[in-house]
Amino acid sequence: MTKRLLTGLQPSGELTIGNFCGGIKQILDYQREYEVFLFVPDMHSITVPQDPETLHRRVREIVGMYLACGVSGEANHIYIQSEILEHANLSWILECHSYMGELSRMTQFKAKSDGKKEIGCGLFTYPILMAADILLYNADCVPTGADQKQHVELARNIAQRFNARYGETFVVPEPLIPKLGAKIRDLQSPDKKMSKSTENKKASIFLNDTEKDIRKKIMSAVTDSGDSVYFDEANKPGVSNLLTIYSVFSQQTLEQTQEHFQGARYGDLKKEVAEVLVEFLTNLQSKYAAVMSSGEVDEVLDRGRDYAREIAAQTYDKVRRLVGFGRV
Ligand code: ATP
Ligand code: MG
Repeated sequence: MTKRLLTGLQPSGELTIGNFCGGIKQILDYQREYEVFLFVPDMHSITVPQDPETLHRRVREIVGMYLACGVSGEANHIYIQSEILEHANLSWILECHSYMGELSRMTQFKAKSDGKKEIGCGLFTYPILMAADILLYNADCVPTGADQKQHVELARNIAQRFNARYGETFVVPEPLIPKLGAKIRDLQSPDKKMSKSTENKKASIFLNDTEKDIRKKIMSAVTDSGDSVYFDEANKPGVSNLLTIYSVFSQQTLEQTQEHFQGARYGDLKKEVAEVLVEFLTNLQSKYAAVMSSGEVDEVLDRGRDYAREIAAQTYDKVRRLVGFGRV
């Protein structure tokens, strides 16, 4: 049987080049080999406050961006999480098979709740909903950036725990982390990962940024002391980040990129990184404009919803019987 691959990108902001590297690019690399489930996790987005109108709009826009990037809307199942009610239902059951201790260890929870006075419960339990997203479709692989690896590991633990108690029920998923670009760094604080919901817009390159903004943000990216260009993530995180971005968007290996920039200065590196990004993103943006005016997004989402609903309903029905819900 064809193996299943599942992933999602939250409509919590505009997609960044980090989201492209950790999420979308992997779908492009694997979509011929796997049966792909790609969903829009709108339920995850409200773990932090969202404006409802903006969230509605972003749900469609993010799908337009998946398609513009080259994700096939015909071959893959693309759907909106909140349109499949079993995500929340299964999440509740899994919540009752998870522990406060394991959730407290999640680094994303620590980072997103840091310094906040009021911390939403959803932010704490989010990884369980993510486990439900994955286990509902019995996904074999979950492509993500490095930041989500811990959550996929939690989903594995929950699946194994459930299987041990009730018998083989869920496929235990594997995380799929890219070799290059698993953690694109924040341009202003290279110790952090780039994020779409960042407050400092200068820190991220968004897929729909203008040419002028792309150049400005890359030219003002924080680099490290010294002026020679070489890859060393521990001591030169800023420069290594730019080299990684160049490699991914020029489709070269890191070795080729390092050779290309041998003897170069920071200014040369930045100019060339900006150049490859401008070329890639302006091309992407014209495809995006065409997709958004075509009506394709809704067709794809309707098809994806109908397919996903069937699978989700089957899995949920099996699970609810196993735990003893209803009248058999
Ligand atoms: P938010 O700030 O709202 O959490 P995000 O940028 O972290 O947004 P997510 O929707 O949480 O994006 O994640 C979507 C996918 O992009 C996940 O697979 C995640 O691992 C990946 N990803 C997120 N940031 C990066 C990054 N900086 N580098 C590589 N992959 C990333
Ligand atoms: Mg995130």
